[in-house]
Amino acid sequence: MTATARLLIVGPQGSGKGTQGVRIAESYGIPVVSTGDIFRANIKEGTPLGQQVTAILDKGDLVPDELTSEIVRDRLSQPDAAQGFLLDGYPRNTAQVEHLESFLAERGEALDAVILLDVPREESLSRLSLRATEQGRSDDTPEAIGHRLDIYERETAPILEVYGAKGIVDRIDGVGSLDEITERIAKALAARGLRLAA
Ligand code: ADP
Repeated sequence: MTATARLLIVGPQGSGKGTQGVRIAESYGIPVVSTGDIFRANIKEGTPLGQQVTAILDKGDLVPDELTSEIVRDRLSQPDAAQGFLLDGYPRNTAQVEHLESFLAERGEALDAVILLDVPREESLSRLSLRATEQGRSDDTPEAIGHRLDIYERETAPILEVYGAKGIVDRIDGVGSLDEITERIAKALAARGLRLAA
């Protein structure tokens, strides 16, 4: 049996969505499509895209919607995403939701579930300052972190209204151990009939 799951994971910076996204995608045998990872890989390799976006990421601003959406379309058109995917970091505002929805509709597809990892702002902030010390990400400065959290609250939270109206949002308590949180997500997805790969 092959699993099909088209998922989106949403949560504030520091919510642990990157870690949980990888765990969930592995158990479904689907690729993670993380726009942040794609941008960072391009910056590291010094590609033209990387050069175009490096200053934007360092400030904690959003890369232009058209460019981001084009990159995601390309990635989702690869064969390994045909049986499903887990999006992390995209769509991040309502304009991107419209892009994604029209792309999926063209293919006769739709998202199956939106996992919302709920974490209070103070918890996000303390996890992020820890990550700044451990990983040294150049956008983990206090200014860029605060800016990204503001953008999240202003632009990303509204996309949940769109998906909430479709009845596909699973709100998951993001405070707990890594395993506990993975288990909560897996249960919510199973309740939607999304089965793991055999
Ligand atoms: P975080 O969630 O901690 O901000 P991400 O890895 O998701 O980290 O994103 C890092 C940066 O990459 C963002 O601050 C932004 O500059 C850029 N980025 C990622 N996803 C998008 C997107 N969907 N639209 C525009 N910019 C994006």
